[in-house]
Amino acid sequence: MASSSRSFLCIHGHFYQPPREDPFSGEYRIEPEAAPFPNWNARITAECYAPIANAGIFERISFNLGGTLARWMDRHAGETYGKIVESVGRYYRRFNLVNGLAQSVHHTILPLARGRDKRCQIRWGIRSFESRFGHRPDGIWLPEMAVDYSVLEAVAESGLWFVVLSDEQVRGDLSAGAGPYKVRLSTDRFVTVFIRDRHLSNSFSFNMPAPKVARTWINDTVRSRPSGGLTLLATDGETFGHHHRHGVDVLQELTSPGIHDAYEITTLGHHLRQHPPAIEVEVLENTAWSCMHNLGRWATGCACTAGCGYWKGALRRALDNLSRDIDEIYANAVRSRDLAPWALRDDYIEVLLGKIDGPTFLAQHHLGHLSSIAQQRILGLLEAQVYRQRMFTSCAFFFEDLERIEPRYAISNAIQAIALVRYATGDDLTSSFRRDLSVALSPTTRRSGAQIMSEILDQAEMVESPLGGSMRMTRPDDL
Ligand SMILES: [Zn+2]
Repeated sequence: MASSSRSFLCIHGHFYQPPREDPFSGEYRIEPEAAPFPNWNARITAECYAPIANAGIFERISFNLGGTLARWMDRHAGETYGKIVESVGRYYRRFNLVNGLAQSVHHTILPLARGRDKRCQIRWGIRSFESRFGHRPDGIWLPEMAVDYSVLEAVAESGLWFVVLSDEQVRGDLSAGAGPYKVRLSTDRFVTVFIRDRHLSNSFSFNMPAPKVARTWINDTVRSRPSGGLTLLATDGETFGHHHRHGVDVLQELTSPGIHDAYEITTLGHHLRQHPPAIEVEVLENTAWSCMHNLGRWATGCACTAGCGYWKGALRRALDNLSRDIDEIYANAVRSRDLAPWALRDDYIEVLLGKIDGPTFLAQHHLGHLSSIAQQRILGLLEAQVYRQRMFTSCAFFFEDLERIEPRYAISNAIQAIALVRYATGDDLTSSFRRDLSVALSPTTRRSGAQIMSEILDQAEMVESPLGGSMRMTRPDDL
């Protein structure tokens, strides 16, 4: 078969683990269900990440690596982490582009976030990727593929080229397979979208073929489509090796086509350079790959999780109200110094990544002349913004019960943001947050978010600060 008539296959792996460390100590808990490994990250590394890295497969796929997982691997599975980073470097040297995609840092459901938070999540995600891999990304993975036009505007504004969506999230002529397609934005600009084949991707997630028939299966699929097109299989990276033991062998088979196969392996960035988008499609707003109820899974509760999910809306309201209060205090403090608060917060990623220290950061922003106390106040409010961003990690809302570890994690981050604000300014937002949380009820225990908050406060180690008791909390490794 002449190579010009061959089609293209891209496999994209979303490699991600939710934050599981103790939010106060920063330490990883022993997770007995992950035995014989101490925790899930260690077990999934052994089953999935390490074998994929050892087989050199990261150089042949497109992928994104969530910050919570990347930082854990860097600390606890350095060899595997190093191989993943090096695979991007090798790919770059070969093709002059990266095969990795950025991810917005805290896995926030972006359509539900304020505009400035969308921009912050995306910008922090880009800088985090650059810091880790040494190159600027071309595309970004939207958590849960949750999308609306304002998210795409923020993506385009940040200088990125493309995102990945699922075929049920767009409307239009999809005869060009995975695309790329272009989506017109309100500013008359365009952003590129690649469209994953939901049916094919789910086939691998829920019905993984045996390694010896995997290539036949994919050849048959590709041959049934117009030649020269792109097919995109996008799914959780953990599908290969963790959810399905033989998945790494399947991945090896799929990513090693020979001359007699109907396809070549490519990556999204590479394909985009050779095939600029021509067809325009429309995006269906408030859609996601893991909920078909208008983002209800993370906003109001929906049929995706068992039992009454009203607590999700109540928890979100509590976090939104708290955010508004924290933001007002922060913005007033920064504006009183004639600075733009949200641009300053975007830039603060340099401190979070350890590129510079806090006082140097302030000096670069013309605040070096402030007294030490005034500097500490601004830095404390910036730190509060980090925890306030982390409150909205999608996992907090994903599951069925407020009593689970994930919502407690969101509340713990809120408590830490409150403590930092109180330490910096003396403003105490505790009682209003507690009142809002009292509306959120666990469907199983009927306990309220306020009771859970009290329990967390009782368990947390208190330290004395000039403004009274504060929480001892290490900054989590998630960037
Ligand atoms: Zn749903």
